[in-house]
Amino acid sequence: MSQFLSTEQLRSIADEYGTPLYVYHAEKITEQYTRLQKAFEKSSTRFFYASKALTNINILRHILSLGCNIDCSSINEVHLAVKAGFAPKNILYTSNGIAFSEIEEAVSLGVNINIDSLSNLEKFGKKYGHSYPVGIRLRPNIMAGGNLKISTGHEKSKFGIPIEQLDAILALVKEENLFIAGLHVHTGSEIKDVSVFMQVADIFSELVPHFPEARFLDLGGGFKVPYKEDETGTDVPLLGEKVGEFVNGLKQKLSRDFEVWFEPGKFIVSECGYFITQVNVLKQSGTIQFAGVNSGFNHLIRPMFYESYHRIKNISNPDAPLLHYSIVGNICETDTFAWNRELNEIREGDYLVFYNAGAYGYEMASNYNARFKPAQVLVINGKVQLISRRDVFEDLLRNQIEVL
Ligand code: PLP
Repeated sequence: MSQFLSTEQLRSIADEYGTPLYVYHAEKITEQYTRLQKAFEKSSTRFFYASKALTNINILRHILSLGCNIDCSSINEVHLAVKAGFAPKNILYTSNGIAFSEIEEAVSLGVNINIDSLSNLEKFGKKYGHSYPVGIRLRPNIMAGGNLKISTGHEKSKFGIPIEQLDAILALVKEENLFIAGLHVHTGSEIKDVSVFMQVADIFSELVPHFPEARFLDLGGGFKVPYKEDETGTDVPLLGEKVGEFVNGLKQKLSRDFEVWFEPGKFIVSECGYFITQVNVLKQSGTIQFAGVNSGFNHLIRPMFYESYHRIKNISNPDAPLLHYSIVGNICETDTFAWNRELNEIREGDYLVFYNAGAYGYEMASNYNARFKPAQVLVINGKVQLISRRDVFEDLLRNQIEVL
């Protein structure tokens, strides 16, 4: 049965820890990782949790305890992974547009690296030659993902080396005697269609004969999770089956073994997260009934940033009749979480919960409008524990230097 926190549990956590509040449920993370492992048990597949989704060290340690690897998108995420206890061989740094000095630091830590520009690949070759294996991040020119803002593999995207520059890559590999250990593509986020991943697999099978030392084929992240009640996510068992067939076919064709790597972020932590807010004001305006909560896009930017949908529930009045509301924040700009949403009748003071808040929620939060960042709690083995405290006034001034 699927792991979830009940309305009563969420209400009691909100009473105890106050709002706004992020709540994570460790057992849901375990469930998601187990689903992946099961679906891919027939092929040698390694999962690297895309830690950008949620980097709290307790979350990282829980994911480590499951046997999962970790993917990082900055050198600081690499340092967090090391601090959490991941071994360097289980850490992957998939870079994008970074200074070469970060790559040098990653090499000194001994982690896996994917490089996404000819410029850094050349610098890498000149410094390390064949001494350090490296992956190449490619741009396949495929449009995929929930919407343009979360699509990364299309032909206008900044991510990866365009595949039409294959000749330049091969020339560099030869000239600098690079040790190309693998190929990487991440086409985007919220990819429901299994065939998108298989399209990339086809591209890999065409390219990989050019890279005789390549042993991993990294298909990135981007598995879709359900956001709406009637939605389904990526068919992970089907993907597992197709990937198994693909790797076996490639192995026979080239007489070489390959590992498939994935970097799921949302799939692992989206559904484990709940964001609890409280209604400050109700305001009727023409036909619109606004419910203004004690939060805003400073705490959960996804709806305003890329039109993401979060299911919302009034956990203080769950049996009341359904009415229509626009759920808005208290930030000094248009700050709408949901337009014309059907919710159980809302009263000022009610708790509203946003679901699917584990990935890219707290992680993208800021102190805009000099508001405090929310606290975070983790529910694990039935115990509720504070894993980061709410900001206090001093946090707003922490890095400021008073010169006047
Ligand atoms: N890998 C890379 C290179 C990414 O850029 C991202 C997301 O931005 C991910 C993995 C994780 O994507 P998702 O959270 O959709 O699985």
